[in-house]
Amino acid sequence: MPLIEIQPLNSTQADPEAHATSRVLKKFLLDCYTRLKGHRVNSNRQMKKECPINALATQRPGRFKAVDSFRRRWGLRGLSISSGLIYWGLCNFIGMEVLKAHDSIDPGKDLAGRIELACSHLRGFDFVHVHTKAPDSAAHTKNPYLKRAVIESLDRGLGSVLNTLLDDPELLLVITSDHSTPSSGPLIHSGEPVPITVVGTGVRRDGIERFDEINCAGGALGFVTGADFMPMVLNFLDRTKLRGLMDTPEDQPYWPGLRKPFSLE
Ligand SMILES: [Zn+2]
Repeated sequence: MPLIEIQPLNSTQADPEAHATSRVLKKFLLDCYTRLKGHRVNSNRQMKKECPINALATQRPGRFKAVDSFRRRWGLRGLSISSGLIYWGLCNFIGMEVLKAHDSIDPGKDLAGRIELACSHLRGFDFVHVHTKAPDSAAHTKNPYLKRAVIESLDRGLGSVLNTLLDDPELLLVITSDHSTPSSGPLIHSGEPVPITVVGTGVRRDGIERFDEINCAGGALGFVTGADFMPMVLNFLDRTKLRGLMDTPEDQPYWPGLRKPFSLE
């Protein structure tokens, strides 16, 4: 597919500034093209009959907008153990701490190591996000056998530390994925629901015995959307608040809030 022309959004058609921005951006990208086209990296590539790397593409641009911190929004001190700039950047944006992990060739071992690291930080944090991108990256190769191998490796890795997680009565374990990544077809990511499981003291059980897309679709949690996730976690942590009750001027979804005690003076 060719790169697309730079155009203002429909909603800003009447705004001359939007047209000026798109003209300037186009000019900038043309300048990039001219400079990259003549670069020696590209003459070398063309001699080797490789495609030149001669253009920049802009994607999802926006302006910085301050948001509530994770702690203020959900009342939990958050930590992420992940590899990859996007997670580090997102966590920085919402005020979650980050332990930067690095990927080896063994995703299961990496996952087990991250879970052990998470367990050693449970005193300082109420919510620990442990992430692996390995199945997503594997699916992007469109090789389903590679994706299967990665999932099997993660299964072994999780299995090697599962008892530690299940033995802690204070711990709520949630395993899920943020989206489907199809191993065939043209889509990068797709909209099929992903499985989710929640294990912890007092968490209601259902009849589902296997963690996969088909079995989990029939479970008691039903269809959980992304926006349902944190309220659900607060509920299972016994930290969710009765609607309408407020212990701070802000109507936040959790208790206890950062409350100001009643003074007799
Ligand atoms: Zn992806």
